[in-house]
Amino acid sequence: MAPGPLPAQQLPAPGLDRGGMDTTVAPGNDFFEYANGTWLERTEIPADRSTYGASVVLVELTDRRVAELIQNAVKSDAPADSDVRKIGDYYTSFMDTAAINAKGLAPLRPTLDSIAAIRDRKELARVLGAGLRADVDALNNTNFYTPNLFGLWVAQDLDDPTHYSPFLLQGGLGMPDRSYYVDSSASMTAIRAKYQEHIAAMLAMADVPDPAAKAGGVFELESRIARAHASRQESGNVSNGNNHWARGEFGAKAPGLDWEAYFDAAGLGKQQRFVVWQPAAFTGISTLVASVPLETWKHYLVFHAVNAAVAVLSSTVGDKAFAFYGPVLSGAQQQRDRWKRGVSATNAALGFAVGKLYTERFFPAAEKTRAKAMVANLIAAFGRRIDRLEWMAPATKKEAKAKLAVLKVGVGFPDTWPSYQGLEVVKGDAFGNARRAELFALRRSLAKLDKPVDRAEWVMTPQTVNAVNLPAMNAMNFPAAILQPPYFDSRRPAVLDYGAIGAIIGHEVSHSFDNQGALFDARGRLHNWWTPADFKHFERSSQQLVRQYDAYRPFPDLAVKGQQTLGENIADLAGLTASYDAYKLSLGGKAAPTVDGLTGDQQFFVSFAQSWRGKIREPALRNRILTDGHAPPQYRASTVRNIDAWYKAFGVKPGAALYLAPADRVRVW
Ligand SMILES: [Zn+2]
Repeated sequence: MAPGPLPAQQLPAPGLDRGGMDTTVAPGNDFFEYANGTWLERTEIPADRSTYGASVVLVELTDRRVAELIQNAVKSDAPADSDVRKIGDYYTSFMDTAAINAKGLAPLRPTLDSIAAIRDRKELARVLGAGLRADVDALNNTNFYTPNLFGLWVAQDLDDPTHYSPFLLQGGLGMPDRSYYVDSSASMTAIRAKYQEHIAAMLAMADVPDPAAKAGGVFELESRIARAHASRQESGNVSNGNNHWARGEFGAKAPGLDWEAYFDAAGLGKQQRFVVWQPAAFTGISTLVASVPLETWKHYLVFHAVNAAVAVLSSTVGDKAFAFYGPVLSGAQQQRDRWKRGVSATNAALGFAVGKLYTERFFPAAEKTRAKAMVANLIAAFGRRIDRLEWMAPATKKEAKAKLAVLKVGVGFPDTWPSYQGLEVVKGDAFGNARRAELFALRRSLAKLDKPVDRAEWVMTPQTVNAVNLPAMNAMNFPAAILQPPYFDSRRPAVLDYGAIGAIIGHEVSHSFDNQGALFDARGRLHNWWTPADFKHFERSSQQLVRQYDAYRPFPDLAVKGQQTLGENIADLAGLTASYDAYKLSLGGKAAPTVDGLTGDQQFFVSFAQSWRGKIREPALRNRILTDGHAPPQYRASTVRNIDAWYKAFGVKPGAALYLAPADRVRVW
């Protein structure tokens, strides 16, 4: 099943999408609808998606382009052991469903045998340790989820930024977050019942006798793990996470798990110092390792072994797993085409090798130059705002400017490409390739522990439609794939770019100065460089913003979480503000031309709201509210209500639904 070309009507046209607006809606009542109403009404979420919108359109386009590059790699007859050959072989093996189906569960047999051979808690610890992967990230990509008992993230130490440390994060759940296990709402209760059926189905695939009863035991164990977990909001607070534990302390602080056996099996045999992100969870989970019957743990491990490998096991297993993770958990009705999953899998395994091919072909040098200039404008605008702040003490301003001066901004792709030398890709072995790629990533992370910190390292591949701030590194990555229409487009007036990618760049810059960034100094050390009075002012404005988002209620039983999304909401506000300034600066005092009856300021704000356009299915929206640090897109578009210029641009008056009195508009920066 090869991908066809992207239908022309889905390609973003240059300029504002006037036809997608709904000008019968008053901008002050619902700005998201005003900017996107007709598009929202006309657009159906594709059956294989749980969301659809500006970013997904770009993801689809990028996936098609990547698929084409991969197919060229397949045909290229590149030398064995070259990256291009590895890309081709990885994808081809993933796409060979006949071979995958013929093998059935055989590739998993050695794993299942090692689980069956567990006789005592030490062997249990060893198998749990062998499951550790470098699959979480507490600060940059903020990925707090791992299905393995714990997850590893190797990053700069927060007390000593000249060295890397191993960060350990809680894990062990098959559903996205503890709230799925503990919330008493009707929707969560229904999901839990379906999840138990799913566990039973996976156990049945591995020929476990009486799977329904055993699924009950596994579910109960996961529920107890979940109750030991820190909440998403607690995990998001870096001050809770920076806990240094010496290796010798684990036995006393988290008794129950044989830590020596665990670390040895995980490849951390020599490591002496760790950072434990959620200490209480480590204590609670370790207790369960000692107290829950060994047989229950073995069923738990069997379930997780099957569940983690569904992408590269026979389609019978994949279809059964999708029945839960698709319709129940995300709302998607249909599995994504195999080739799309193949692109994702190849990106996950060989992301920067694919990214190199992608940028050579699809990221012109002129766009890199243009993006760099825009970043420079945004940083300058942010600096001017810091100078003008009335509430901030001169000493704090000095530190803020010092931090701004050392920001390391990556545009498009990294200066040095990570190597995949040592990763073995075997044609015809999809399962083994996936396993080896995970272990390769783990070993690469572990190897960093002995090396100096590299501030030029990228944490997102160039073909990712996203951007990221690396708080401890004082760095940012703007991947090539987001530096395209509808965010960044050389064919249209610059004001539209400022409303879209400009606000995103400003967002990432401001993360260095949000409630979390304010805790890291210019060297990336976790230490608050604000005066107490400054920090108090900042927290007061933050609380206003928390209340603003807490009031957004997409469901009667579920509201947006103002505190959990605070850092991102501050970044949205600061980013939009800084980009507005940068757009004005770029005009050097001249007014932007009116286009299609919209003034420059109107175009700026509509472009912003259109960059957040999107639809989302209910289960996915609920999941996002519970687990994501970002507010749902429609509320991100409402950031405009804090900006005076928006009121002026659209004549928004008291009485309009989004109206805020000047004193209630949040001004952080
Ligand atoms: Zn952000």
